[in-house]
Amino acid sequence: MRKHNFNAGPSILPREVIEETAKAILDFNGSGLSILEISHRSKDFQAVVDEAEALFKELLRIPEGYSVLFLGGGASLEFCMVPYNFLEKKAAYLNTGVWAKKAMKEAKGFGEVVEVASSADANYTFIPKGYAIPADADYFHITTNNTIYGTELKEDPDSPAPMVADMSSDIFSRPVDVSKYICIYGGAQKNLAPAGLTFVIVKNDALGKVSRYIPTMLNYQTHVDNGSMFNTPPVLPIYSAMLTLRWIKSLGGVKEMERRAVEKADMLYAEIDRNKMFAGTAAKEDRSRMNICFVMATEYKKLEADFMKLAIEKGMVGIKGHRSVGGFRASTYNAITKESVQALIDCMQEFEKLH
Ligand SMILES: *Cc1c(COP(=O)(O)O)cnc(C)c1O
Repeated sequence: MRKHNFNAGPSILPREVIEETAKAILDFNGSGLSILEISHRSKDFQAVVDEAEALFKELLRIPEGYSVLFLGGGASLEFCMVPYNFLEKKAAYLNTGVWAKKAMKEAKGFGEVVEVASSADANYTFIPKGYAIPADADYFHITTNNTIYGTELKEDPDSPAPMVADMSSDIFSRPVDVSKYICIYGGAQKNLAPAGLTFVIVKNDALGKVSRYIPTMLNYQTHVDNGSMFNTPPVLPIYSAMLTLRWIKSLGGVKEMERRAVEKADMLYAEIDRNKMFAGTAAKEDRSRMNICFVMATEYKKLEADFMKLAIEKGMVGIKGHRSVGGFRASTYNAITKESVQALIDCMQEFEKLH
């Protein structure tokens, strides 16, 4: 049976990307070799890295003076690389969830950390607003999409300090004003590629300003200077990322991804709000387009396992909510189709009729 993949990450990729990746595993570019066994320094693979970088710059309209890096270690390693490279005295963080909190924890080892606001007391069901950002902070760190709680900053905030963003789970789902940021990073396994790749967009002239020694591998400058080839980068995920970026471009770029994301999210939220058996968990104005969290309404709580069973029977995969929120989470990344979202809605309506 056809599966509807709502996994939060690693997660759905465009079918074409998976098929092309499979072909390259058998024979890369007619070379008679698998992409799994070629040198990362070969001419053919350099062309892949170059194209992936060029597509990043084109699709996100990255201004001159920025580098795009393809690294390992996940978004979690960036939590310490960011303060290593940018925190001299003070950094500001917006605490919107577990990932934001983990990022903040690492920064505390490098200097003063100001938590400008937090929604921890409300289990991160909303994104705080109206907070003050210290203008003398080396940077202001945000998590644009809170994968676990289903809240999202859908526009780039204004900040007196340069911004750093974890965009792991909403990169390429909307246009971004990159000029507001000195660094944007994320794990690629949510909306871009298979697991193993971390992307980093870094403003070149923001580097080299801290006085501490930075270990070579943790220094962004190392990777800028070596075109992400200081050591062996994650070859296969970079190839798949390049294919995903080609796919995004062929469909009309990030504006079109945003239109689709809004359309799909609106469909599902409309059903959550209409169907008396379900309730959304995130504040309406902060609802994510990428991770849609909902629970059984109070009077139907006992039916949670029954709905899960029906959903699994109908081919839904990965809709169990994160343990810290409970209920359900449908991740509606770029590659998920409207048809899959409709199938979930149909399932919710069928369940309503049954009870
Ligand atoms: C998944 C996720 C992470 C962790 O990513 P890793 O690549 O597993 O380290 C960090 N931040 C956000 C917003 C995420 O969704």
